[in-house]
Amino acid sequence: MSTAGKVIKCKAAVAWEPKKPLTIEEIEVAPPQAHEVRLKVVATGVCHSDYYILYEGGKEYGFPCVLGHEGAGIVESVGPGVTRFKPGDKVIPLFVSQCAECPLCLSDKTNQCVKNWTVDEKNMKSKSRFTCKGKVIIQFMGTSTFSEYTVVPEEALTKIPDSAPLDKVCLLGCGISTGYGAAINTAKRSALESTKRAWGVSVIVGWVDVKDVSTKPVDLICGRTWKGSYFGGWKSVQSVPKLVSDYMEKKIKVDEFITHTMPLEKVNEAFELMVTGKSIRTVLKM
Ligand code: ZN
Ligand code: ZN
Repeated sequence: MSTAGKVIKCKAAVAWEPKKPLTIEEIEVAPPQAHEVRLKVVATGVCHSDYYILYEGGKEYGFPCVLGHEGAGIVESVGPGVTRFKPGDKVIPLFVSQCAECPLCLSDKTNQCVKNWTVDEKNMKSKSRFTCKGKVIIQFMGTSTFSEYTVVPEEALTKIPDSAPLDKVCLLGCGISTGYGAAINTAKRSALESTKRAWGVSVIVGWVDVKDVSTKPVDLICGRTWKGSYFGGWKSVQSVPKLVSDYMEKKIKVDEFITHTMPLEKVNEAFELMVTGKSIRTVLKM
């Protein structure tokens, strides 16, 4: 029986308040509205940014929320006006959107997009399609992949080949793309050069506290470059399918980073493995 147009009740790991373990809850996921897509999340990686929001600095993003931004899944239904996706498509949700028509998307200097939900954090609450126990649940980074189903705007989603293994390529939704892209897109220099005083480039990736990143002004005055890299500088919608193909042609490594695979229910254990250095990446299967 089709679930299109209906509220779906499903399992999600909810972060009710900062510094408390996630709890598995039944949430309601509303149908997609215009230009939105609802997908069944099949697998999701656990990233340090999820942990950071929960335990170190996430108050400004608000709670309760569903974390997770490194997922892969299958389209369940689409809202009015969606033409690029249909039920059954394999997809990767994107925390950096690519609408392909805003001034930032039309520029080759950046991979940011003004339609990104995370440009205005209020969107994560006002546009959330999640509720639980009568409360709106914030959709972290617009993606919320620690849930069996999620809803994303169509410009924050990309289609990948049917043959792609979702429990592997989910890592291309954040971690591997961010690290690889920071090296080849943003730094564009070798590791050796980046140590040079006059023209080294240091790239900051991931979410960090201001207190964790400091430099002596003299380093910059002398010619070093200090840049941020968001999602590795990739134009997300067009680049992620290429990265998936590169993985499937064995040009980039993904499997080697996955040290643990476990069910969603063990998400707190996955955090523990990550912060104690026992895992590189854990993939949660729904
Ligand atoms: Zn991440
Ligand atoms: Zn755009």
